[in-house]
Amino acid sequence: MQQAALTAPSTDIIQTDRETVWHHLTQHSQFEHSDPMVIVRGEGMRVTDATGREYLDATSGGVWSVNVGYGRTEIADAVRDQLVTMCYFAGTAGSEPGARFAARLLEKLPGLGRVYYSNSGSEANEKAYKMVRQLAHMEGDGSKSKIIYRDRDYHGTTFGALSSTGQFERKEHYGPFLDGFVSFANCCCYRCPFGKTYGSCDIDCAQDLETVIQREGPETVGAVVLEPITAGGGVIPPVPEYFPIIEAICRKYGVLLHIDEVVCGLGRTGEWFGYQHFKVQPDIVTMAKGVASGYAAISCTVTSESLFQRFKALPADRLGYFRDISTFGGCTAGPTAGLVNIDIIEREDLLANVRQRGAQLMDGLQALKAKYPLVGDVRGVGLFAGLELVQDRESKQPAPEQTAMAIAKDCSDQGVLIGRTNRSFREFNNTLCLSPALIASSRDIDDIIEALDGALMRCG
Ligand code: PMP
Repeated sequence: MQQAALTAPSTDIIQTDRETVWHHLTQHSQFEHSDPMVIVRGEGMRVTDATGREYLDATSGGVWSVNVGYGRTEIADAVRDQLVTMCYFAGTAGSEPGARFAARLLEKLPGLGRVYYSNSGSEANEKAYKMVRQLAHMEGDGSKSKIIYRDRDYHGTTFGALSSTGQFERKEHYGPFLDGFVSFANCCCYRCPFGKTYGSCDIDCAQDLETVIQREGPETVGAVVLEPITAGGGVIPPVPEYFPIIEAICRKYGVLLHIDEVVCGLGRTGEWFGYQHFKVQPDIVTMAKGVASGYAAISCTVTSESLFQRFKALPADRLGYFRDISTFGGCTAGPTAGLVNIDIIEREDLLANVRQRGAQLMDGLQALKAKYPLVGDVRGVGLFAGLELVQDRESKQPAPEQTAMAIAKDCSDQGVLIGRTNRSFREFNNTLCLSPALIASSRDIDDIIEALDGALMRCG
């Protein structure tokens, strides 16, 4: 690694960034009176910005990606060696790391049989939708092509993925969207869409899938796509009964179950995949962020062997094969980094660490809830948690967005980076998000809670 180049962060880079880069999710007018943050170095749980300031990163790289932490020379070395041996070949050919990583990944995904490579979460989801639609067209008359998605879930930035997204704040102003995407209810008990209370409800949020399938006509519905735990939509884990009901409805109507593990995949929740907490068998699983912990761009659309065999049975002379490609799905950096990423998670027993540290994080957050009425709800699984902020607990009126911004800023001033959900003026969008790397120590969790405690006290 080029350590020398990295040891002297330069503030010039801030000016260059300000003048040249269009940042994600950013209103740039703010940089008229503040500097953009430019991160120049990372080691373990910590990152350093271009001014030399160090932070404890409770976001895993801003958006839940760097699962095994920063500065893993083992991954960089493996990628370097692979790139000089064979960097890239795309199209119809495979690669050695591609085959090895697929085999390794499938060991973690019982019941699934094939791995299709691309390079972002959005793209992985698009591939899945195309698979569903091609089967609808080639096995039938094309009508069984609708995709049902859930309110509050996010599936990506491209038009198919955005059309299947249930977040107002991501979709507003980008329409028109694609036909054939239909939503059903979210599963947030804190703001139950049916006004009910868990314990005295029939898990109406899951049953709503059946209502929507019946309304649309089961013969028109090809798949349902869900996050195992809604992430950017407010960190919303479902109740234990939820997924078995969803799966039973899918089986009843011949609808494929597609689970989007872009955030939860590869250990974030203390299982390899988020859905594995809920004892369901998906037909399609998509993943991206944690697959190579951000060291390379890779995403996977993993399908059951039976879905793959349905493609094999299509008439090749009538375009009966998956006519899809991803240019950078052929770069070997991704699967190479993915292999070492799995090695690290196993060798360091990080799933156990996530369960332990996740319990500590949740205890700490519950204590903050008991202390500050501003915290309306605390939700999460493993090292993946959200605090929803409210003006008052009775009405559950969302706290103003400025409050969440002030808390995040206060934490950052204390040297701890935390996340928050997307900006909007509606409920759910004032949730603070915590997703430290899977290597977090007990001390790191204490430091995160302490920073939040101070920030809540000052900004509440
Ligand atoms: N699915 C989920 C659940 C996500 O959170 C995201 C990204 N935050 C995506 C898909 C899209 O991934 P990408 O940004 O890599 O396209």
